Amino acid sequence: MDTSALERFLRYVIVDTRSDERASTFPSTPGQLTLLRQLVDELKAIGIDDASMDEHGYVMATIPATSPGPIPVIGFVAHVDTSPEMPGAGVRPIVHRRYDGRDIVLPDDPTAVLRLSDQPALATQIGNDIVTASGTTLLGADDKAGVAAIMAAAEYLIRHPAVAHGPVRIAFTPDEEIGRGANHFDVARFAAVCAYTLDGGSLGELEYESFSADAMTVTFRGFNTHPGYAKGHMVNAIRLAADFIALLPRDRLSPETTEGYEGYVHPYVVDASVEQTSVKVLIRDFVTAGLKEKEAMVEALAKQAIASEPRALVSIAIEESYRNMREVLDRHPQVVEHARTAIRRAGLTPVERPIRGGTDGSRLSFMGLPTPNLFAGEHNFHSRLEWVSAQDMDKAVEVIVELCKVWAEPGSEQLPPPNSQLPK
Ligand SMILES: [Zn+2]
Repeated sequence: MDTSALERFLRYVIVDTRSDERASTFPSTPGQLTLLRQLVDELKAIGIDDASMDEHGYVMATIPATSPGPIPVIGFVAHVDTSPEMPGAGVRPIVHRRYDGRDIVLPDDPTAVLRLSDQPALATQIGNDIVTASGTTLLGADDKAGVAAIMAAAEYLIRHPAVAHGPVRIAFTPDEEIGRGANHFDVARFAAVCAYTLDGGSLGELEYESFSADAMTVTFRGFNTHPGYAKGHMVNAIRLAADFIALLPRDRLSPETTEGYEGYVHPYVVDASVEQTSVKVLIRDFVTAGLKEKEAMVEALAKQAIASEPRALVSIAIEESYRNMREVLDRHPQVVEHARTAIRRAGLTPVERPIRGGTDGSRLSFMGLPTPNLFAGEHNFHSRLEWVSAQDMDKAVEVIVELCKVWAEPGSEQLPPPNSQLPK
């Protein structure tokens, strides 16, 4: 019998794979290698002989084609690390069988309660088996639900050679949560025409638009001296930075006030001293040109903040983080179209919405591997209240299998009609 996605999931979440943005190693934490090695062993155990891990921890493997003839190679990708924002050690997964809509109180912290009234997505889960952590850690459904779904699909495809499909590539990656997941991804070695990350939420979700993102660092230079003798001399960079932050838009263009296709400007780290204070600002927009406008605004406000202090200096650095994957995917419409077809064949309705963030797919798409994102059933990412349902994971497995079949059908490389226009 096949190992269910749930069984696999429960094995993976107990491995502490929290990533660490302060680390300079790759992967950032050794626990990730533990799980990555385990995945190589499991892939080999189900008969995928070429499973291997490279020097950076990336696991790649191939499910051989069952169908002759030239069929495009497609891939599936999931990340093994969990968010550094929350404890990931000592995860104690709990399966709540046949959810009945009542509150789920997590035993290790009774203030952690999953309530139907707070979580509209739970309304669709009555009768399903819900997995949570125990109240003091995250669960790690992000993205071990995706890992489990890919593993279960791989096992299914190996055991059912009558299912016609081309070569299917698998990759498990480290350090996605700290934005490094694509850093050492060897796109040439992966050698697929496209890939799908399994790192999304509710049933049917298909994401192929992400933010375009830059990171700005605004640094104020003041002048420090002994505060007892500072009159007329000191220029406090902390005050300049505070003035700057106060000038940033608050009731618009902020994460707290935007949704859908709206971008934002978000101060999120301050490194402060009297002599020098830097403010890190995230810039987000679905249209890459919109980043430039926001960056010009931020720069103007930084200059305004020091306008009355001629001894102060401000400098600005801008770093590109990632770009909207849609710019690439619009040129390969079959990638998204086949995902829609597969979701429908699994009995679901595609739910398409923009990702207000980035995924590894945002970067992989620009590295030559068009990579939209599919649901894996993850909810409440990076939270003690994270949950997933076993039935949703099974549906994700089904969608993967259907996608492999769709790509094996004649004419799959041909382009269907172009996508609808970009939203205004
Ligand atoms: Zn994720």
